[in-house]
Amino acid sequence: MAQGGSMALPEFPLARPYASENYNVRPPDAGIRAIVLHATVGEADSSLAWLTNPISYVSCHYLINRDGTIFQLVSESQRAWHAGPSFYNGLSDWNNFSVGIEMVDHNDGVDPYMPALVDACRRLCVYLVGKYAVRPDMIVTHKMISGAITGKSDPKGFPLQEFIMSIAKQVPTELRYAAWKALGIDFNPNAMFTQRAQAWGLGRPVTTEQRVDIKGVRWAFQGFESCVLACVEGDWQNVYKVDWFQT
Ligand SMILES: [Zn+2]
Repeated sequence: MAQGGSMALPEFPLARPYASENYNVRPPDAGIRAIVLHATVGEADSSLAWLTNPISYVSCHYLINRDGTIFQLVSESQRAWHAGPSFYNGLSDWNNFSVGIEMVDHNDGVDPYMPALVDACRRLCVYLVGKYAVRPDMIVTHKMISGAITGKSDPKGFPLQEFIMSIAKQVPTELRYAAWKALGIDFNPNAMFTQRAQAWGLGRPVTTEQRVDIKGVRWAFQGFESCVLACVEGDWQNVYKVDWFQT
């Protein structure tokens, strides 16, 4: 099997191996936390040839053809060379901590991103988001991270926000329940405190919902990042915010 760094290719099961030696090791402290989307400008054959040519000094982790065929060139654990000089979200050198995906498109704003290509890219991104817990704001275009420095404009015309939304929809909701469970709290979207905390932007819960008797009155309360929510037990229409600290 072809090699592309320390792992056997492909890692994404639906990809075909097409190994490039254009990579180096990621810095030891650089966990993967971003996805950078590109457009090739050229067609798949010439792009694959260039991205695997030792004199090009460029590569990517995955390349997706118009028909949805995915090629893996470099192991995700390795530092592929796709981002170039880059700065965005307060972070520089995005090759260190990103997975680079090339989509075959002329990048002229006219050539459409084919539905099969976008579907394949979505499947690949759902896999990467699940594997590395990539945040939505860390799924970016080459233009966003490098355009101001290098003039890169790719992937021109790609509907990024719509694409990110469609990825979020495909991440299984069980993940949210599992994450709450990791806090020691059962997620109940119908709980009044949970609904208020979401509506009022109070952040995640930091305690379970509790009961306490104070001077003969039974209170329900739950702590959130910003404050504590409380009400007299049963009187769910009158929820109070209690500051964590005396003011
Ligand atoms: Zn690019």
